Amino acid sequence: MTAFWTEADFDDHELVQVVRDAKSGLTAIIALHSTHLGPGAGGTRFWHYADASDAMRDALRLSRGMSYKNAMAGLPMGGGKAVILAHQDKAKTPEMLAAFADAVDALGGKYVTAEDVGISEADMAAVAERTQFVSGLPVEGDDAAGGDPGPFTALGIFLGIKAAVKHKLGKDSVEGVHVAIQGTGSVGGGVARLLAKDGAKLTLSDIHMDRAEALATEIGAETAAPDAIMSIACDVFSPNALGAVLDDEGIARLDCQIVAGGANNQLRRAEHGPMLAKRGILYAPDYVINAGGIISVTLEYLCRNDKAPCDINEVRKRIALIPGRLEQIWQESDSSGASPDQVADRMAQELIGR
Ligand code: NAD
Repeated sequence: MTAFWTEADFDDHELVQVVRDAKSGLTAIIALHSTHLGPGAGGTRFWHYADASDAMRDALRLSRGMSYKNAMAGLPMGGGKAVILAHQDKAKTPEMLAAFADAVDALGGKYVTAEDVGISEADMAAVAERTQFVSGLPVEGDDAAGGDPGPFTALGIFLGIKAAVKHKLGKDSVEGVHVAIQGTGSVGGGVARLLAKDGAKLTLSDIHMDRAEALATEIGAETAAPDAIMSIACDVFSPNALGAVLDDEGIARLDCQIVAGGANNQLRRAEHGPMLAKRGILYAPDYVINAGGIISVTLEYLCRNDKAPCDINEVRKRIALIPGRLEQIWQESDSSGASPDQVADRMAQELIGR
């Protein structure tokens, strides 16, 4: 038997709970990295893992990531994450979700869950029938915090790209700045539309090329094949699809001055942050620039509990702080010689008392 708490990914998690409900077939992991700033908040992933230890690793890494993201977004929340180990057929039953909801409820608010990969808004609504410790529920009206986090994430990334362009290229506007966007889904599509409005020159790519092409026609952009987008000569490469694209090979291919996008866990390993810096490429740490969605979803939760204003202006106000936080990271990186990801990690660790 391997003791997972002796592995580096454990990183002093406060609590790791394995939930098993034989009747419904549920096996889940709830990982709470830190509750220093508030309840551990982070979504639930529903995924089939070939090896159960991959599920544990995923839960631990994602939960630590949420500690860092929430702390750097100035939210009164800690970091947590849940993983439901799907069977090979990925069958999801109401009984499984009910057993999972009861496990979340039993933690008494130490963990607040939400949607993640494989979990829909409807699934979360089912979970919310049995526990109040849920965020990311549908909201009524256009001026309420919450709802689909994608547009809020996109807004933060757009503002972060503008800050990076100012810092690295000395330009006050993105007009004529060439941005290559990998992934044109909810986040990448939103970023592209905002940049297009401000006159940026865009190249779009998606493994579903019809999606990228339709958007390119709508906003007047070029497209590139998925295997070409990372080597396009451009000012900004914006990864908005998968994680771990910044590895040895990916970084060697880049022909840009800035990497700034919404994908989670863009750096494959810790050494890839300094590697980008060595190439003179400015990096916007992913969990800092992509916090717009979690800001919206968290305010929705806090507002339901009368702990924060509920309106969308408060969400926008907090998202508008993302560029300043990035600028602080870059300045410290410039003066200390540490790469931006290292600076951000250190700031986040300090905020969570580690
Ligand atoms: P999405 O599913 O709406 O869009 C992802 C897009 O990427 C899809 O169109 C998909 O076809 C495309 N894609 C997948 N692999 C690709 C590849 N190899 N090359 C090019 N395109 C590829 O997802 P999303 O909500 O836009 O999220 C995108 C990324 O941002 C994910 O990494 C997600 O974890 C992260 N993120 C999302 C949010 C949010 O609010 N939605 C918040 C924080 C982080």
